[in-house]
Amino acid sequence: MSTAGFNAQNGTGQPYANGPSQNPVGVQQLPAVNYGVMPQPSYNPMQAKSPVPPGPGLYPSGPYQHIPPVSSYQPGPPPTSYPAAPGQAHLTRAPLGGPVSHTPPQSASPIPGPRLPPPQCTPPPPAVSSSGYYPNPQHQQPPLMAPPWQYNSAPPPMGPPVPMNTQPRGPATNHVTPPAPYSSATSLSMSHNAMQPPTSLQGCGQPGGAPPPMNPAASHQYHASSAPYGTTPTGPPPTTKPAAPPMANATPPPPKTDAGPPQPGPPGRHLGHYPSLPPGYQHHAPPHGGPSTSHPGIQSATQPYTRAPQLYQQPPPGPGPAQLSPSLASMSLQSGTPETLRVVNLLQERNLLPPGPVPAPTPCLPQDLQKINCSPEVFRCTLTSIPQTQSLLNKAKMPLGLLLHPFKDLSQLPVVTSSTIVRCRSCRTYINPFVSFLDQRRWKCNLCYRVNDVPEEFMYNPVSRSYGEPHKRPEVQNATIEFIAPSEYMLRPPQPAVYLFVLDVSHNAVETGYLKVFCQSVLDNINALPGDSRTKIGFITFDSTVHFYNLQEGLSQPQMLIVSDIEDIFLPTPDSLLVNLNESKELVQDLLKSLPTLFEKTMETQSALGSALQAAFKLLSPTGGRLSVFQTQLPNLGVGALQSREDPNQRASAKDIQHLSPATDFYKKLALDCSGQQVAVDLFLLSSQYCDLASLGCISRYSAGSIYYFPSYHDKHNPAQVEHFQKDLKRYLTRKIGFEAVMRIRCTKGLSIHTFHGNFFVRSTDLLSLPNVNPDAGFAVQMSIDENLDDMQVVSFQAALLYTSSKGERRIRVHTLCLPVVHSLSDVFAGADVQAMGGLLACMAVDRSVTASLSDARDAMTNAAIDSLSSYRQSVLTIQQPGLLAPACLRLFPLYILALLKQKAFRTGTSTRLDDRVASMCQLKYQPLAYAMLMIHPALYRVDDLTDEGALNVSERTVPQPRVLQLSVEKLSRDGAFLMDAGTIMYLWIGRNCNPNFLTQVLGVPNYAAVPENLYLLPELETAESQRTRAFVGWLREQRPFFPLLHVIRDESQLKVPFMQNMIEDRTESALSYYEFLLHLQQQISK
Ligand SMILES: [Zn+2]
Repeated sequence: MSTAGFNAQNGTGQPYANGPSQNPVGVQQLPAVNYGVMPQPSYNPMQAKSPVPPGPGLYPSGPYQHIPPVSSYQPGPPPTSYPAAPGQAHLTRAPLGGPVSHTPPQSASPIPGPRLPPPQCTPPPPAVSSSGYYPNPQHQQPPLMAPPWQYNSAPPPMGPPVPMNTQPRGPATNHVTPPAPYSSATSLSMSHNAMQPPTSLQGCGQPGGAPPPMNPAASHQYHASSAPYGTTPTGPPPTTKPAAPPMANATPPPPKTDAGPPQPGPPGRHLGHYPSLPPGYQHHAPPHGGPSTSHPGIQSATQPYTRAPQLYQQPPPGPGPAQLSPSLASMSLQSGTPETLRVVNLLQERNLLPPGPVPAPTPCLPQDLQKINCSPEVFRCTLTSIPQTQSLLNKAKMPLGLLLHPFKDLSQLPVVTSSTIVRCRSCRTYINPFVSFLDQRRWKCNLCYRVNDVPEEFMYNPVSRSYGEPHKRPEVQNATIEFIAPSEYMLRPPQPAVYLFVLDVSHNAVETGYLKVFCQSVLDNINALPGDSRTKIGFITFDSTVHFYNLQEGLSQPQMLIVSDIEDIFLPTPDSLLVNLNESKELVQDLLKSLPTLFEKTMETQSALGSALQAAFKLLSPTGGRLSVFQTQLPNLGVGALQSREDPNQRASAKDIQHLSPATDFYKKLALDCSGQQVAVDLFLLSSQYCDLASLGCISRYSAGSIYYFPSYHDKHNPAQVEHFQKDLKRYLTRKIGFEAVMRIRCTKGLSIHTFHGNFFVRSTDLLSLPNVNPDAGFAVQMSIDENLDDMQVVSFQAALLYTSSKGERRIRVHTLCLPVVHSLSDVFAGADVQAMGGLLACMAVDRSVTASLSDARDAMTNAAIDSLSSYRQSVLTIQQPGLLAPACLRLFPLYILALLKQKAFRTGTSTRLDDRVASMCQLKYQPLAYAMLMIHPALYRVDDLTDEGALNVSERTVPQPRVLQLSVEKLSRDGAFLMDAGTIMYLWIGRNCNPNFLTQVLGVPNYAAVPENLYLLPELETAESQRTRAFVGWLREQRPFFPLLHVIRDESQLKVPFMQNMIEDRTESALSYYEFLLHLQQQISK
């Protein structure tokens, strides 16, 4: 029964009555063949619908195990039992990374055949299992009181991680499964501590989808800036080590591998033998031995360092970071009062903003370690000094978590080609700069402390071309590095780049005019789509029916095939709908040229989006790939049909916001099916009406897609939005992409990861399934401390992203972050990263809004500020003084919390469209921190008096650097012009008495009254003022991958409203001013 959907596809059932006759697409011949379909057991995913769980369960019984057994939603037979579709390669490979299993490693690799070794949870983390995108209804707790939002509490006891098998690849489907315990809710709960006051949020996951990053011209190309390492510069890896372990980043080691048994220590049984104190640190070092530079064990091997000709950015010679023991021993975290702990009375010090961007704090590590540490742009922790125990963390009352931007476009990325990727035999950590070498032949893992052998090959350093310096290999000199996976590690060919576009062509869609822009953009960028000679492409359009396009090479023109039976959708000609781009490029171009006119006159108003998505899923299932959906209205026909849930009258007045969770689980279920087949769905929502993004967004959220939102899109009425769409689409089409990806985040024993934020599906405790990964996606995770870290001086975190490049290479990008462990509360506070905390709290609050309520989330955020500042006051401050006191590093915390409360996602009392709110929530969850921070707290600059003083020089351009102003109307003046950078949007506000020089020299208008109403481009004038202004705006835009629109506004402009709403420090009718908010905090703290 579960094969019903594919019978149609395979032609083994009674697919369609008419047979796929071929109708050239032509404007005249529009409606082509309609395939009527025999009734078949139909896909009725609604049957599986289960109730949306009520708010936050009190205390999740096993808070992290909302994952029902996979079988409950994926009862398909094993892939091998499906017949291959005729004419299709029968791919039986397991999903990348393989199904999760807990079988012993021995069984993982030897199975021949197209199967990757299953990833395992090795060693099963003592606590946690994250995700919970599937709250098992059984686990639902009665919706008593909202639980305290407790990021700091001890992790609750948990069972072993629940395995989450992914669906087998191949033509399996589970559409007709019996009602499964699917639930649209999720609760990534956090742990709670009964001692805690009932404040705050609980981290619960389940917001809408994710936000869309997008961008300007940043090249998508892979900056393989450095030549690959290895004896061969680029080509295939040396084949000297045929017995390399099958790998999958997520895969635990096959026991046999690498280079023989570990020498010291009990082979196989690890941790017990190496107690918490890493011997590497014990061996050396009088605690105050000064920053000695090299590891005694390998000192003798240190030789003059020869730089290889490759472009690799070699850290300066000197103490290898791997030789960190002595340095650590000398680490002193307490030397006087650091600037970060300077006491600030927030009620007195008004201007707390630094003149420029707020810098990320630097972890308090020895210099040689810090120099090599992972960039905060990629990997950041809310606390740059990790508390030694959970109780210390509880006391600090600050959230502990990581923020990642793992696939960021990097200008420098060392790439290593090696037949042996050196990993810990026990926990599979990749060798990194923070391991220690006991001697030349042994290294100790910095995550689990197992001693591993150094493989023979690793003894040769391709950079210095010397032998016997394993600690100088690029792998131990770079905290961010990429490996090209050796071919032995691949048991099947990596998938090609596959792009399928699904386009709304209903009357409403045509009316917006987006189709023209879309088609032109694809035409313009068709040669820049990432890929190679295997790249495939396809198109589906839909209104009340679904239209396919036969683009088979050899046809004289594209043929349109219409399937009107949307209740049981099937593929009319499965083999010719997704075609090789190179071979069929002309047909594709013909289609793109004719599409906009093809539907010009349509009067069809209905939208069968659900059926179109099902068809697209079937089409992509055999290979995996990227599905890009363009939708302009609420789907109202067939499966997945939705109804409007928004009452416009309630936008401002509602006590609490309803309908933040999906109305149906159709989109989520389909997304999970997609994820199982390595298909990611990106949603472009272009609409002026309510589209229920909370429901539609699930399609992207759970399939690791992106969401792009263009409210009020119209090609005539909203030209700025068109520009925005064009820019974003160009970035989208041309940016780098990784297919069939998985990401695993590991951390030092004693720490555990629980709740994940972003767009993905959590496959096992720490493994994220990412059918696609893009360079604009961010992730966040929450952590807890399970075991005391007493004997440790540092801990490490490693994120490994395994993906298939658009050129068909399997690659692994590894980031490793090292942070000190501290035992005093003041040190914990000294290391607080206020932006990372704000970013993580925003993610947690989104979850809380959906699972509990918006007001609950708002209370929780306020309490987060109260809790941390009162903890500081009670436990850190030695001299009590009046005022609202904060350590300097947290001085912006209350401001950021207030900014979040006034953010579109969380605000109340201000008219906010539901879709706008949900889109904002998605963005907060999915944007990398740097961009999310601008959404939360925009930067305001005065720009009518820009000078070159203190300007930057960026590629021959002089970029002025005006200082950042407080977000208050006080800072505006009528004779000036002010630029507000809010991340995805910028406003240039022109004062009524604006300096005439600025008007003429920059805007090219004679006076204020002549400033056009809808100005969104700065004219390119040959004046110094114009050049400065454009250089500054251009430079701001270059800092992010998406394209922020610039609106020039006057006092009378409609857009003045959102501009003024961003004046966070000011009072509004429904919200406190910053000063009032501080008073409120003070009052609560002194209670
Ligand atoms: Zn290890």
